[in-house]
Amino acid sequence: MRIGRGKLEKKTVVFLSRKDRTEVFQDRLFNSILENPLEFQSQGEKIEPGELSLMAPVVPSKIVCVGRNYQDHAKELGNPIPDEPLLFLKPPSSIIGPNQPILYPPSTANLQFEGEIALVMRKRIRQASVKEITTISNLFGVTLFNDVTARDLQRKDKTWLRGKGHDTFAPIGPHVILSPLETEYDILTKLNGDIMQKSNTRHMKFQFLDIVSYVSEIMTLEPGDVIPTGTPAGVAPMKIGDHVEVVSPQIGVLSNYVESWDQRTPLIT
Ligand code: MG
Repeated sequence: MRIGRGKLEKKTVVFLSRKDRTEVFQDRLFNSILENPLEFQSQGEKIEPGELSLMAPVVPSKIVCVGRNYQDHAKELGNPIPDEPLLFLKPPSSIIGPNQPILYPPSTANLQFEGEIALVMRKRIRQASVKEITTISNLFGVTLFNDVTARDLQRKDKTWLRGKGHDTFAPIGPHVILSPLETEYDILTKLNGDIMQKSNTRHMKFQFLDIVSYVSEIMTLEPGDVIPTGTPAGVAPMKIGDHVEVVSPQIGVLSNYVESWDQRTPLIT
């Protein structure tokens, strides 16, 4: 079962898909459907998936990322693998959906992709041990994430706010898988069709439940919050016009293009 968001005749809707049936609901029902999708099954308006234009599937209160969780990636950038999960935040304002443009800021000369598997919280938790987490059913969904990084700014600054936090630096989607969490997901990233990253979550130093328990000791996790779990080796620069895809056969394909920062829409309201 998959949940996500899209535009249908200019209105934002939630969709719930199961096999070849897709139904839509009012957006305000998102958290209720996220927690109990079975209650809503066959209750929505049936549509053809092609009628929707996809948006980011979640609107999180925060995105808590894990850095250097794959040994081969830590090594390629000359970093040791940490003894504890290395955490940082990306602002929710950096989120974009499938097929939306990643904008290349003028302040960087080295914009890179990082394909990742991301957990999506379906319930609120705080200070939960790994043992407690394993007893909670329907705690996670899973999706794809591109932890877009201005590598030069990340290296230059003491905190990673600029390197990780620009608008459009958090492509996510195309939907959230609500089936019980698997222990292993294949993850690969393609740049203009060439495979650049190829790994599996079994190579993560800190596994899903370790990460979530660790984060929950620090902060309350809310439904819809996103936890990207790190990137494997193979990160590389992107340029304007590039097509980047994060792929997992168990989840789907997250596809985005890189465009010039000039394409942004300045806004004062
Ligand atoms: Mg990352």
